[in-house]
Amino acid sequence: MTAFRPTADGALVLFSGGQDSAVCLAWALARYGRVETVGFDYGQRHIVEMEARQRVRTGLQQRFPDWAARLGEDHVLDLRGFGAVAESALTTDRAIEMTARGLPSTFVPGRNLVFLVYAAALADRRGLPVLIGGMCETDYSGYPDCRRDTIDAMQQALNLGMEQTFRVETPLMRLTKAQTWGLAAALGGESLVSLIVEESHTCYRGERGELHPWGHGCGDCPACALRAAGWDAWVAAGRPATAP
Ligand code: ZN
Repeated sequence: MTAFRPTADGALVLFSGGQDSAVCLAWALARYGRVETVGFDYGQRHIVEMEARQRVRTGLQQRFPDWAARLGEDHVLDLRGFGAVAESALTTDRAIEMTARGLPSTFVPGRNLVFLVYAAALADRRGLPVLIGGMCETDYSGYPDCRRDTIDAMQQALNLGMEQTFRVETPLMRLTKAQTWGLAAALGGESLVSLIVEESHTCYRGERGELHPWGHGCGDCPACALRAAGWDAWVAAGRPATAP
């Protein structure tokens, strides 16, 4: 399935059940000998996301026996205290809009920073030297904690503060949403693409509803719009594979 030789070391994937983190999980399984996943319950409006995590994990195990052997434990950490502090449209019923700072109201201040601290503490305990996240600064990058500069600074802070040598890998950082579909195709062919279409969850409104060519969702929230546009661009380009 993949040209990669798995290494002896392990990785912890920040796994939300969305399209991006599902591709990151496949990327990790193609590359590392032991891969565990971590999800965060920070009071999301939608339990849908947590259910998608399990369906994607199960689908990967069923469709990719080589990867099933490497896929280890799943961890869910309770960050509802943080969610209460960082209240935003993702965790309340406020409308999705742009704020005066030019950030979407779906932005949860410091979310990825907090995720990485918790993930690193877990990775330390689990003996996993690599953290993998789907942060991406291409396309719609209203989130300052998704930028590679931020991730580099965070990696340094984690390593200094935990006396560690973690690497924080962000395989989607420079990819467009179309290229992310192409990466799924390169890693796992049509089987992985269809799994991500059918089972991963992106919609901010938590709607599953109708299955569009790009997946389930309301179709007009910013997350659905981005996912659909990426799919359309990828299909229009002839569904090219993206080299991992
Ligand atoms: Zn939506």
